[in-house]
Amino acid sequence: MKRVQTIAELRRALEPARLEGMSVGLVPTMGALHAGHVALLQAARAENDVVVATVFVNPAQFSETSDLAAYPRDLEADARAAEAAGTDVLFAPDAAELYPPGFATWIEPKGAAEGLEGTQRPGHFRGVATVCVKLFSLVHPARAYFGRKDAQQVAVVRQVVRDLNLELEIRTVETVRDPDGLALSSRNVRLSPAERTVALAIPRALATGDPAAGRAVLRDAGIEPEYLEVADLDGPTLVVAAQVGATRLIDNTPLRRIV
Ligand code: AMP
Repeated sequence: MKRVQTIAELRRALEPARLEGMSVGLVPTMGALHAGHVALLQAARAENDVVVATVFVNPAQFSETSDLAAYPRDLEADARAAEAAGTDVLFAPDAAELYPPGFATWIEPKGAAEGLEGTQRPGHFRGVATVCVKLFSLVHPARAYFGRKDAQQVAVVRQVVRDLNLELEIRTVETVRDPDGLALSSRNVRLSPAERTVALAIPRALATGDPAAGRAVLRDAGIEPEYLEVADLDGPTLVVAAQVGATRLIDNTPLRRIV
């Protein structure tokens, strides 16, 4: 696996693949890799000649500087996990590489980016859309891989790809959970053991398949969600966001259509 930090190094690393017309699969991440990220890398490995993983804690998608500062980072562990999952190129730029002085062009998604995370985290999807388009433009992937855990993000990225006529396929991977049901998230490491127990109410609430019943489950656990509702994200989906202690968690489950 090649580790690269600059755009120039990334271009050099991808040059042979480009010349030989090899297919590239891209897995964008913010690092602190866990089994959910590994599932994306394995899907990319199975479908492409070359797998590129990116580790970039994108400042543009954080509205709270404290959240950005506290985001877990461990590039050496990430490099080991990425390599073990079959990654060919790991691109881990610093913020100034992607947002140099004078950077002033943004992708401003509406539509799928409105409501839910778009309401709770103003500017979040502007940062996500902008960095994704930059990564697509740098890597030229045939396919890019995203987790269903961030179901609204998938809808936003698909919308951007469609609206801007980008030539790549967006592939999705089901949410990977711990055996107790908690969706894997880089943020889970910030939960205390007691908070983690409380957080298990989130998958329990989703399992009810009903916003009112789900809200009751959360209330019993002392959680007041930011939202818990049914949204149309590639079909009816029960989506939830909630703060547990200092940690913000999101999760969702597709609802079975009643026929
Ligand atoms: P992040 O590093 O949190 O920005 O996530 C990078 C990618 O991994 C995104 O496409 C996420 O949706 C995906 N991802 C995060 N957690 C999970 C999970 N538990 N299962 C599957 N995919 C995930």
